[in-house]
Order: sequence, then structure tokens, then C-alpha cells
Amino acid sequence: MFHCSTADKIKSMNNKLRIGWFSFTCCEDSTIIFTELLNTHWKNWKNSIEFAHAKVLKKSPEIIPEMDVAFVEGAITGDKQEEKLNNIRQKAKILVAIGSCAVVGSPSNQRNFFNRSQLEEIKPILERFKYKEKVLKLSEIVKVDDVVPGCPMNEQVFLQIMDKYLNTNPLSFRENEATEKSSEETSDVPKRK
Ligand code: SF4
Repeated sequence: MFHCSTADKIKSMNNKLRIGWFSFTCCEDSTIIFTELLNTHWKNWKNSIEFAHAKVLKKSPEIIPEMDVAFVEGAITGDKQEEKLNNIRQKAKILVAIGSCAVVGSPSNQRNFFNRSQLEEIKPILERFKYKEKVLKLSEIVKVDDVVPGCPMNEQVFLQIMDKYLNTNPLSFRENEATEKSSEETSDVPKRK
């Protein structure tokens, strides 16, 4: 499901799928899997995708750019992370949760299951670093369009999702936009206010 509110913000004019890769609280093993997959698939992908944001691959701006697809790994542990995730959601047409931590919260959310004395023990750390009381999965904060489960992520599911969005790449997003625009311009019927 595409977010119409952000669809008209896409700036890429070269018909490449603009993707972003983001990591929150996690071990970043899915990032490693992703870079390994590039060894095999980059030749096929290089004319179809561009990286709007991927700190593991290149210097990426702190300001979140507009994207077609944002891949997000890790769980959310603090308010700043929550704010950043909301920002990513606003800038991306599609948001894909990558790996178990992002999809269900585990294993990054182990402290959610601590007993009272363990929670007492970590309380100063939570306060000092302004961590949330509970670690959250992505869908507890934003709408998630697709998920790649697994710890680390399941490669085959990831590749299927990449294929899916490469085949509905910005060409079709922009064709839809152009069609909508032209029907608005040519319509003689007064628009309903
Ligand atoms: S899901 Fe597993 S591999 Fe991925 S970040 Fe979490 S712990 Fe690491």
C-alpha cells in the first residue's frame, strides 16, 4: 500500500528506485547480510536502484531524504529513535521492517521481560540515556508495509521484496501521478470541494 501523501514528494527523475537503509538498536547482522547480497546482485540492481541513505555504504546526510522504500532494522529503545523513525515513515512511500528485532522486537527487547530486581538494577541506565520503559517493535510506532523476519533477516524473503518493489518501481509511481495530474487538468467537471 503506497502512501499518497508522500507519493508526490518523490524527487528522483531517473526512474531508479530510491532506497534507504537504517539501523536502530540491534547487532546489524542484517546489514551485513545485505552488503553480502550486494556482492551477488549489484550487477543486476545497479541500473535500477539508487541509495538515498545507507551509512554502511556511503556518507549519508543526517536529514532524512525522500525515498521510495526504507528498509529499517532494529528495535526502538528511546524517544529520539522514535522521532527518527516517524521522520523516516514520513519520507518513505514504503517502509519494510528488517529482521526479528524490527518485526517483533526480539531479541533486542530482552529487558522487557526482566523481573523487578533486574529492572531496579538497570533503572539508572534507562534514566541516564533517556531510554523508554519498554523496547518497541516498529509497528508499535509506525505503519509497516512489509516485513522480512529472521535473525538475521531471511535472505530469500528480502530478495522477493526487493523484486516486488523493483517491479513496481518509480516508473509506475510516476505514471500514476502523471495520470492523476492529467485527468485533473483535462477534466471539465467541476471538482467537489
Ligand atoms: S534480528 Fe537478530 S540479527 Fe537482526 S539485529 Fe536483531 S539480533 Fe541482530
